[in-house]
Amino acid sequence: MSDRRGLLIILSSPSGAGKSTLAKRLMLWDDTLSFSVSATTRSPREGEVDGKDYRFVSEEMFRKWVADGEMLEHAHVFGNFYGSPKEPVEQGINAGRDVLFDIDWQGAQQIRNSPLGLYTLSIFILPPSISELHRRLVARGQDDAPTIAKRMQKSWDEISHWDGYDYVLVNDDLDATEEKLKTIITAERLKRTQQPQLSAIARRLQSEFEDLK
Ligand code: ADP
Ligand code: 5GP
Repeated sequence: MSDRRGLLIILSSPSGAGKSTLAKRLMLWDDTLSFSVSATTRSPREGEVDGKDYRFVSEEMFRKWVADGEMLEHAHVFGNFYGSPKEPVEQGINAGRDVLFDIDWQGAQQIRNSPLGLYTLSIFILPPSISELHRRLVARGQDDAPTIAKRMQKSWDEISHWDGYDYVLVNDDLDATEEKLKTIITAERLKRTQQPQLSAIARRLQSEFEDLK
């Protein structure tokens, strides 16, 4: 158990804006970060690894976890269920580790309104334009044309919630956005409330000051 409780760092964006790419870069930057592996009822895409990218589960299993209170948040997105299992998150933050989430606005809202809302840092990633969002979905090469059309149709649903987030970044240049994300996380960790050791430091400074008298 660490003195410092970890932060819940939420990244949201319309599909294709770049949040998974950015989340992977953040995980490489700081190996103390934990990634919250979501459970989903959708099928794995090529290259996705069960337990690493998602936990791929049946709808029956997903519903049971929700009913048993094992999900921190959950939502129905693009016709499938997605949710963040609670236990790994609690373990991570209680051990002082920051936990990174790649979740949609509904999940972000549920976490913000939960008792863990106090420890939440939420960041929304905007695409520079809708045509660039479409170009990125096509370039990613993971979805067929109807799926891309569905994602594009839903993109405004997600973007329209941009103003509920602590920070909003336009992901034009990938390296620049990555740097901004690192700056935000670094600053958040330096907040007084994230540094429980400060009280002891202040007490020591006070006693050193008293000794001068
Ligand atoms: P999301 O997780 O938000 O659905 P991805 O991270 O999968 O989006 O990114 C979608 C595609 O766009 C990927 O092929 C990724 O390499 C690319 N991409 C991400 N950010 C940028 C950027 N700033 N400029 C150009 N391409 C980008
Ligand atoms: P994809 O199918 O492209 O991996 O994800 C589709 C959408 O679901 C993305 O917006 C992603 O952020 C969101 N998502 C992934 N996992 C979760 C989760 O655990 N909870 C919620 N609320 N959304 C999720």
